[in-house]
Amino acid sequence: MIIDLHSHTTISDGTLTPSELLAHAAKQEVDVLALTDHDNVDGLEEAAEAAKRLGIRLINGVEISTMWKGQTIHVVALNVDPTYQPLRDGLQKICEYRGWRAEEIGRRLAKKRIEGAYEGAKAFAKGSLIARPHFGRFLIAEGYCKDMREVFKKYLVRGRPGYVPGKWAELEDAVNWILGAGGIPIIAHPARYRLTAGRLRTLFAEFKELGGLGIEVVSSSHSPDECNTMAAHAIRAGLLASQGSDYHGPENKWVELGRLHAMPEGCDVVWESEYWPAEPSV
Ligand code: AMP
Ligand code: MN
Ligand code: MN
Ligand code: MN
Repeated sequence: MIIDLHSHTTISDGTLTPSELLAHAAKQEVDVLALTDHDNVDGLEEAAEAAKRLGIRLINGVEISTMWKGQTIHVVALNVDPTYQPLRDGLQKICEYRGWRAEEIGRRLAKKRIEGAYEGAKAFAKGSLIARPHFGRFLIAEGYCKDMREVFKKYLVRGRPGYVPGKWAELEDAVNWILGAGGIPIIAHPARYRLTAGRLRTLFAEFKELGGLGIEVVSSSHSPDECNTMAAHAIRAGLLASQGSDYHGPENKWVELGRLHAMPEGCDVVWESEYWPAEPSV
């Protein structure tokens, strides 16, 4: 059984449409797929239709950009009701902030004599929300950088000219929207934040206190070592373990849908927990 609980489409910063993503999932023999676009649930309907046609079990998800003690933390919501109004309102506000932030990134890059970055990123986003990779695609297309790695290092991370500090949803609010929408809150790719072990423990304890239920133990952003470290954290904190590729499309040759490190021993996996939705009876 191949289970991949983190993926993106053109609805956010992925490069495949929801239908194309599901077709690719079928090719990769994925049995259970969560679509978790950043801050937006608009791809779920198209994905559901394609999933039904292809016999793939689709989990309605979203990856919410949040803040915790000044640090950006992504929270993956699994099995949410996308019509739940407080969730929709919360995501709407994040997307409004994204709009302003994209213009601000454009202004900051203009000061570095990079003209038209906002318009360029917007064109790559094709009417969807604008995320940093859209700026990346513009900067690569215009010859400012050779690849995404260089884009982030040179322009888009903290301390670089195009960096705008996030003003995302509070972690607590995001957890409440997810729980209210009947979903499972999961901390995405925890090893990516470069937090010390002590700070991670605090994050996980506070997240659990708020009603958070799990963390991504296995992620394409994690090395096998980091998967083991996060497994130990999950077990210690009494949190469920999730796994996902964080697939954004075929351009990234290092990440493939449904291809994941093995889940370390001893974890309580989310898909075998009491919170996991029962198989729909057809
Ligand atoms: P944003 O939500 O607009 O801040 O954009 C964050 C997205 O950028 C993530 O979801 C990744 O898809 C991508 N990303 C973040 N850091 C890097 C990096 N160092 N290299 C390539 N892509 C990255
Ligand atoms: Mn992304
Ligand atoms: Mn993320
Ligand atoms: Mn993601």
